[in-house]
Amino acid sequence: MDNVTPLGGDVYEIDTRMAGYSGITAGYLILGDRPCLVETGTSTSAPVVRDALSTLGVGPDDLATVVVTHIHLDHAGGVGDIASFYPSAEIVVHEKGARHLADPSRLMASAKMVWGDKLDALFGTLAPTDAARIRALGDTGTIALGNGRTLASHYSPGHAKHHVGLLDSLTGDLYVGDAAGVYLPETGDLRPATPPPDFDLDVALGSIGLFAALKPQRLLFSHYGPVEDVPSTLERSAEELRIWVDLTRRARDEGLDLDHAVAMVRDRTRERYAALRADEATAEQFELLSGAPSNVAGIMHWLDRTPR
Ligand SMILES: [Zn+2]
Repeated sequence: MDNVTPLGGDVYEIDTRMAGYSGITAGYLILGDRPCLVETGTSTSAPVVRDALSTLGVGPDDLATVVVTHIHLDHAGGVGDIASFYPSAEIVVHEKGARHLADPSRLMASAKMVWGDKLDALFGTLAPTDAARIRALGDTGTIALGNGRTLASHYSPGHAKHHVGLLDSLTGDLYVGDAAGVYLPETGDLRPATPPPDFDLDVALGSIGLFAALKPQRLLFSHYGPVEDVPSTLERSAEELRIWVDLTRRARDEGLDLDHAVAMVRDRTRERYAALRADEATAEQFELLSGAPSNVAGIMHWLDRTPR
């Protein structure tokens, strides 16, 4: 299938075709004795992911684990559907996200407030998962992949308070979710992902520092794909956060409202991203995943509740 890419080490990148787009949101399958799916993508992507797993030889009773880096709907919206497709799979998530997978009503209500009419087309509906099948992770945790290989989870808040990074003991791959931002392989651009209500600069920088200290061999971005140049990429992640926060702080100090602050930050960061000078479709990917309105609103929200 053309949406499955082998990455070595029995790891396969799956393009979940989020909302019909290619190259926006990846899931990953780690094959082996205990196959593990990292990120489900959205609910509407679940059939795409199931087809990909089936071409990789993973049938309904074969998937051992589904783990999500956090419960935002582009990463975990398909958990309920995937859980029903794979009745033996254990669902693994940080403890701050677990109850929302069992009862998604509050999560869906707040997503509806943010996305309005676009919610259905972008994400579909997160279906509930039987709480007995959910394993909640604390600050650290381990997922057995078979033959002694493990995926170690590391709590990494900042983007979201229920975010974990996942380190593969065999390959040194680190699944970074959205904690290191959004990476566009077409252009090599990296943008921060700082949505409300959880974004916190100091906490986010702490998580990036933790990732660096884990000394991964490779970063696997949910948006999108593998990056081998680990130290400079993580440095860039931190730099991007500082720049967006500095600019948003300046706009706020000048008394700009949200719309004007977004316009100013968008204008002053434009030159940093080749994607915004490329075709419209590529620019649209950024707007969807780390849009200036969402990023600036998240930073404003953090500034509002953070004394200088
Ligand atoms: Zn995301």
